[in-house]
Amino acid sequence: MSEINLAVQEITADMIARVDRGAVATYIPELAGIDPARFGIAVVDAEGAQHVAGDGDTLFSIQSISKVFTLTLALGKVGDALWQRVGKEPSGNPFNSIVQLEYEKGIPRNPLINAGAIAVADAILAGHTPKAVLGEILRFLRYVSDDETIHIDRAVAASEQATGFRNAALANYLRACGNLRHPVEMVLGVYFHHCAIAMSCRQLAMAGRYLAFAGRHPTAGGKVISAERAKRINALMLTCGHYDGSGDFAFRVGMPAKSGVGGGILAVVPGKASIAVWSPGLDAQGNSVLGSAALELLSRRMNWSIFGE
Ligand code: GLU
Repeated sequence: MSEINLAVQEITADMIARVDRGAVATYIPELAGIDPARFGIAVVDAEGAQHVAGDGDTLFSIQSISKVFTLTLALGKVGDALWQRVGKEPSGNPFNSIVQLEYEKGIPRNPLINAGAIAVADAILAGHTPKAVLGEILRFLRYVSDDETIHIDRAVAASEQATGFRNAALANYLRACGNLRHPVEMVLGVYFHHCAIAMSCRQLAMAGRYLAFAGRHPTAGGKVISAERAKRINALMLTCGHYDGSGDFAFRVGMPAKSGVGGGILAVVPGKASIAVWSPGLDAQGNSVLGSAALELLSRRMNWSIFGE
């Protein structure tokens, strides 16, 4: 068994035995019933080998991890002009903070908090219908993950649409500040549906390969994005990918990574691996407790912190 495989197996056994798992997100009713005992992990290495353990093939709601993919598409469409509408600084505030958006006059701190991702959804809507944009997001994910089965969980999207009042407040405030060009309902429709994409750890780790391997598509060949853009998206994931827990995650794990309230985390080790973990129990910042713990162990064991050995 390879060193990575052994690490993945042992870490999974360790995680399954742990009792401190955090609490499942309940503010999206459809996510509230997920079993907190689940744990999955998948690592795709530089040779393209897939190391998967636990519930690594179970589908879960990727939620905010989708923001990395919509950011990639928005940068492809509008390039650096995006940075006039969205900042690049860590927020130090909860993912759905309203007060910060008002304070900063409708320019969200970064594209990975909710307000920023809503502005990004507005940017990719330009000239398209919501249906066409969601089709484009799915096509992109299917292409980067080499998997045609990836789809949106409509029940999760409807659940969030019915209860996403804070996100509606953020979108309305963006619109009031002139930083939303399409009707609020239209933009939120895109946002809620891309957050509701269902993927497994294996599919997510495959999808993250272009970020881990300098923008390349390892199997189809060619570039998904430039190496420069991959580097920048990784920088944003490192500094902003865990909301107000980003500093702690960099301290403990040392990998660019993006979490979602479904309990997933996508992490990249540039040049070495694309990793996805999933466990639905969250900490106070909305990040997966076991997912972060597993990545911390893996980072130590494989010497994968980007900050040195
Ligand atoms: N759809 C979720 C929300 O807007 C995403 C939050 C997250 O995954 O952190 O509340």
